[in-house]
Amino acid sequence: MSGIAVIVPAAGTGSRFGGALPKQFQTLAGKPVIQHVIERFLLDELVTRVVVPVAPVLLERVKNSERVTFVSGGDTRQQSVIRALAEVGEPELIAVHDAARPLFSMAIFHAVIDAAREAGAALPVVPVADTIHVMNADGTVAETLDRTMLGAAQTPQCFHAAILRDILARAEREGIEGTDEAGLAARFGYRVRAVPGDPRNLKITVPEDLAIAESYLQQWSAT
Ligand code: C5P
Repeated sequence: MSGIAVIVPAAGTGSRFGGALPKQFQTLAGKPVIQHVIERFLLDELVTRVVVPVAPVLLERVKNSERVTFVSGGDTRQQSVIRALAEVGEPELIAVHDAARPLFSMAIFHAVIDAAREAGAALPVVPVADTIHVMNADGTVAETLDRTMLGAAQTPQCFHAAILRDILARAEREGIEGTDEAGLAARFGYRVRAVPGDPRNLKITVPEDLAIAESYLQQWSAT
């Protein structure tokens, strides 16, 4: 049992992005967003395998390689991650990273790995700039949250392999659908350590985000 497997859920349809091509397959600086993600992980020798759930229709258009395995995704992000688990092998740690976040840094990936080794689970978190209200169904404000207590979750998130398997199995059994794995881990009583994230590690969600990501990439390669 050694090394780190990375799951990159990429089976979403990207409904908020609009258009026929989901955000993770849009072109960023000459290649698909997801290709940036996979290539960056493969640069890291700690990474034994990258497993990528994609929409079933895309499966015949992608090709596995020595360290990259594509699998058929599920109906939700969580289902996609569960399907990928079957293909990770027997790593010490498993990281999960959104396909639509092409700008994660190796420094943060390694900080998350170190924290997960020690605590069991870890993720990058950034402070929340906006005030967040809980809303009523009729569009009025129900409650205002204390901003100083909030953190916006990013990926890559990292887990001891046994912890990730346990929380996903429990979520399935209990019918819980999480939007990230760190939240599930905390909910089931595991210690989840936050490390400082980076606002530039944005999740491409709307078309304007591609231009922002492109300018970050240019700044990055200029340094
Ligand atoms: O919708 P959201 O941006 O939260 O999706 C996060 C990630 O989960 C995306 O990379 C998306 O492709 C992936 N996903 C998936 N399977 C689904 C839905 C989303 O792999 N059924």
